[in-house]
Parts: sequence; C-alpha cells; structure tokens
Amino acid sequence: MNKALSPQKGCRIVEVECKSILNKSGLADWTVNCYAGCEHGCRYCYARFATRFFHPGESWGSFVDVKVNAPQALASEVRRKRAGRVFVSSVCDGWQPSEARYGLTRQCLEILLRHGYPITILTKSALAARDLDLLASKGGVEFGVTITTLDEGLRRLIEPRSSPSAERLALLEEARRRGIRTYAFLGPLMPHLSDTEESLTSLLKAVKEVGADHFYIDRLNPRYGVWQSLRDLLQEHFPHLTEQYRRILFEDRSRAEYSRGLMSTVNRLARRQGLDARMRLCF
Ligand code: SF4
Repeated sequence: MNKALSPQKGCRIVEVECKSILNKSGLADWTVNCYAGCEHGCRYCYARFATRFFHPGESWGSFVDVKVNAPQALASEVRRKRAGRVFVSSVCDGWQPSEARYGLTRQCLEILLRHGYPITILTKSALAARDLDLLASKGGVEFGVTITTLDEGLRRLIEPRSSPSAERLALLEEARRRGIRTYAFLGPLMPHLSDTEESLTSLLKAVKEVGADHFYIDRLNPRYGVWQSLRDLLQEHFPHLTEQYRRILFEDRSRAEYSRGLMSTVNRLARRQGLDARMRLCF
C-alpha cells in the first residue's frame, strides 16, 4: 500500500454515528462526506470550518471522525430525498487513508449509483483508483482530481499527506481510459510559488497530456482558517513571502491587481496550449 494511504502516526481516528449523510451543498444539489476531518491536512484547506465546534483547538489533519453508519443512513435518505447531483466530498477527501480500512465512500457510491444519482467526485488520493470499476460506463459521473503543483517538495509542504501529483495525474488518465468524464481542479494556486509562468505551463501541459475533458483554475482565497495556517507555513519556509501573501489576501487593491495578472497569464498560457475552450476560471 502507498505510504500516504496509511493513517499517519498521531492522527486520532474516532468512530461516530451520523444522523444524516446526504446534505445540501453549494457545489451540487447534495454532498456526501463519510468523514469529518481530513488526514491529508492541506495547509490551505478551509473545510476546517466544518469541525470547529467539535474539535476546537485541534490542529487540522490530526483527527478524523469516521461516520461508520454512513451507508445505512444514505440508504434510508435516498428513499426520502429528491434525486440530484451529489458532490463527493466537499469537506473531507472521501479517499483519505481511513477509507482504505472502512470503505464507506465506496459503499455510498454503490448506493447512489443504484438509485441513479449523478455524481461529481473530487479527490487528491490515489486510493480512488480502487473505485473506478464502479464508475466506468456509468452516465452522469464526473471524476476530478485536484493538482496544485508538480513540484513534489512544495506539494509535501502544502498537502502533506495527500498522494503525489504524478499519482493523481495517473489516476485521471486511468479514469479517462475507462471512459469516465474527467476534470482537473488546478488550485488554489499559491502566489509566487505555484502560480509562476513556468509552474503554470507544466500544469497545463500535464492536463493536456492526460486528456482531461475540462479543468478549473482557482486562486488562493482567504477562507476560514486559511491565513493562520498559511502564515505559519510561510514564516517557517518562505518568510520573504509572508507580507506579500497578507496583501494579496486582504488588501482589496493588491488582491484585484494580483487576480488581473493571474487571469491574463492563465488565459495566455491556455491559448498557447490550445486549452482555452476546456478551461473554467473560478475567479
Ligand atoms: S484533501 Fe481537501 S478536505 Fe482534505 S485537507 Fe486537503 S483540501 Fe482539505
């Protein structure tokens, strides 16, 4: 098994029961999250807002609540709730290391597919390859991976326990090979680290090579808890960038200027690669 898929030492795994699992979402009609908390521990993650009352003061990535009755709850809810697109997952990675042991996301996918729900998946885990057999040749399925950088050193710093980007690209390629509609989510781009012309060019080339049907690009956003987490990382590894990040995130003028520049660069580079028709900007 990939090392990144084993639960990290010191991560507190707690089994809990949930009342409901098919919840309303701004990303689709519904979302399913079989875990509260995420071992991947991405430094820019804002999903930490979802656990702020249950895990006050605990550091993001150091705990996971496993909703052991998620498949049973879902089986009951799909009979009562209207059908609609389901996003898997919005506030955790459904294929984080605990999924290798519990298989809850897989069981939920089986239920959703059996009841004809269209599904959009987004993951940073190579473990999702396990479930491509369920998704192949099913209508209404979109399979996406997030890739923020191809620089493994940077990836380990900002997404410490996720799968390496090369494994995610291979996963996307395999999904496409199996006839599944695919997309890449390139973001959030880290100012002055993964948003450089060189970095963007290699990201776009990689997306082109794997043949994703479309891709999104997003900038870094100052959502819940992001600044506190990133500020510590910057101070430790890139102290010269701390003040620039603060301005880009919180000063209107700097943010607008930064966004305009990034937009113009990604548009130009995507045109150069013949990818502009497949690109969707999130800002
Ligand atoms: S994989 Fe997603 S949910 Fe998990 S820590 Fe990273 S950004 Fe957050």
